[in-house]
Amino acid sequence: MSHPHPDLGTPPAPPRGGLRITPLGGLGEIGRNMTVFEHAGRLLIVDCGVLFPEEHQPGVDVILPDFTSIRDRLDDIDAIVLTHGHEDHIGGVPYLLRERKNIPIVGSTLTLAFITAKLKEHRIKPTTIKVREGDRHTIGAFDLEFAAVNHSIPDGLAVAIRTPAGLVVHTGDFKMDQLPLDGRITDLRAFARWGEEGVALFLVDSTNAEVPGFTLSERELTPAIDQVFRTAPRRIIVSSFASHVHRIQQVIDAAARHGRKVAFVGRSMVRNMGIAQELGYLTIPDGMIVDLNVLEKLPDDKVTLICTGSQGEPMAALSRMANRDHVIRIGQGDTVLLASSLIPGNENAIYRVINDLTRWGATVVHKGNAKVHVSGHASAGELMYCYNIIRPRAVMPVHGEWRHLRSNADLAIKTGVDPQRVILAEDGLVVDLVNTTAKITGKVPAGYVYVDGTDVGGVTEAALKDRRTLATEGVITVVVIVDTDTGKLTEPPDFLARGFPHDKNTFTPAVAAITAVLVKAAKEKIGDAHQLEQLISRAIGQWVYRTHRRQPMIIPIVIDA
Ligand SMILES: [Zn+2]
Repeated sequence: MSHPHPDLGTPPAPPRGGLRITPLGGLGEIGRNMTVFEHAGRLLIVDCGVLFPEEHQPGVDVILPDFTSIRDRLDDIDAIVLTHGHEDHIGGVPYLLRERKNIPIVGSTLTLAFITAKLKEHRIKPTTIKVREGDRHTIGAFDLEFAAVNHSIPDGLAVAIRTPAGLVVHTGDFKMDQLPLDGRITDLRAFARWGEEGVALFLVDSTNAEVPGFTLSERELTPAIDQVFRTAPRRIIVSSFASHVHRIQQVIDAAARHGRKVAFVGRSMVRNMGIAQELGYLTIPDGMIVDLNVLEKLPDDKVTLICTGSQGEPMAALSRMANRDHVIRIGQGDTVLLASSLIPGNENAIYRVINDLTRWGATVVHKGNAKVHVSGHASAGELMYCYNIIRPRAVMPVHGEWRHLRSNADLAIKTGVDPQRVILAEDGLVVDLVNTTAKITGKVPAGYVYVDGTDVGGVTEAALKDRRTLATEGVITVVVIVDTDTGKLTEPPDFLARGFPHDKNTFTPAVAAITAVLVKAAKEKIGDAHQLEQLISRAIGQWVYRTHRRQPMIIPIVIDA
């Protein structure tokens, strides 16, 4: 296996006639998927997503790929191809388009509808190129062909990229449900055709590569969902991703069978389901959907609510219901169905919501106690089918943490791909494909870019460290008015603290430490306020660690009397 080398530097000039592939996100993490392809001086971007922050990144809304390596080449971009409409594939587009508004966006009908609605919120009207499975288009320097893939959102596409360097196939996110609700299966016949032509490099979704066997069909969930509708005594509240059109179709079908009405709750759910219905991806019987205020007048056993918040997101409808911060008051006899995955990192938040809902008297059905979720990604068995059908010359696992990428690489090797041609890359590594041979040649910046409110990129790792310190250790501000010639305090230091006992004597013992520092500094003729602040900071730091075993943020302010 080809592993990244720690000493990689700036890559050489792109090889003539070759294809350069630079993943800027999604390799080493689940999210912010983005790959840049370069040929003949032109760039093609496949996906531009966001990553959602974890608890150790307080205050961060989303995390973007780092655009540094393409920032001075925005005019060289021929297009952004979006494989499907999930946030981790399209969420970064508004931020890239802020840098150049008219980059053409290529995608399927539903994907373009979702990104257009998102861009409208950012007041951007995009230039779009609609494609469908089977289409072949030359866009700038790239000859593109698209094939249908099945995933947990309709209308996903894999893309084949042809240049003189060879045929490269990127799966996007996919699985191989053989009986999907919309009958649109992953097009293995197209994969086979590409395989016959000769795939020089195959970029493959790794999310479920560790999971043995095959991902079950969406249809396998019907009995468990039906069971909920058959037995729920009062209201049913379903939470799912606002993009999981097929899961929501299953819920609507069950509601129809059991004579219940449905209301959508939550901005993104209402918006996306409106789009999906209008474009024919969601089929809803007439009169089935009612407004929330109409629904409230119906008997409880005729009610279904479909809302966002399946990952325990604090601002989403379900968390707010669990907190009694929503017009929907969860009560005894209500049934809550979490028809969704449990994304690693969100466990605490989700179980908190489940516990709160249970405390109000609801019965909560989730993937831990019923078969109400299947993954949207191909498991090991499906991936091996793909390798055997395509027989790629080289493989580069994408979309996954290291363990997923590694498992996917192992699968490729098991099916006979030469281990020397399996490229385990990570974000920022530059892979050059020349004469159908791919190898890692350099590295470009690919760190996290944090979005915090209206700020993009201003929040640094150091700022996040400060936030964590503030959250866990507290803060002490001390104002010291001193005669710097003598080192004498003109009045007692003024302490302001957060995260410590509210007692005016808490910091009295620290005064002696400050006094000692100032007297010593005066003797050594140190009168510079900044230097004194550093000395005071260190003295208080040592005192607070000795007495409280804590390391708060310390902000000293020295005023020369
Ligand atoms: Zn996806």
